[in-house]
Amino acid sequence: MTLHLIPPAPKPDDPPNSRAKRASKPADMVQCPRCGGREVMETVIGAMIQARKLKGGTRQIICVGCMMKGERVVLG
Ligand SMILES: [Zn+2]
Repeated sequence: MTLHLIPPAPKPDDPPNSRAKRASKPADMVQCPRCGGREVMETVIGAMIQARKLKGGTRQIICVGCMMKGERVVLG
């Protein structure tokens, strides 16, 4: 007797392209143009510290994924 694998039937409420729809993003969401990552961090250059708070300085948004690879991609 031979065993046959039967592929599971697709669920009617989960069409194949639903993953792509879930991956879509609102227009204002930050996304790295180089790697497509959405994890970012904010850096502050040249700030003063007064009463344990940062004052002034230039703030930049940098992609975390690219930073881990040694590249500095500024998103805003
Ligand atoms: Zn990136």
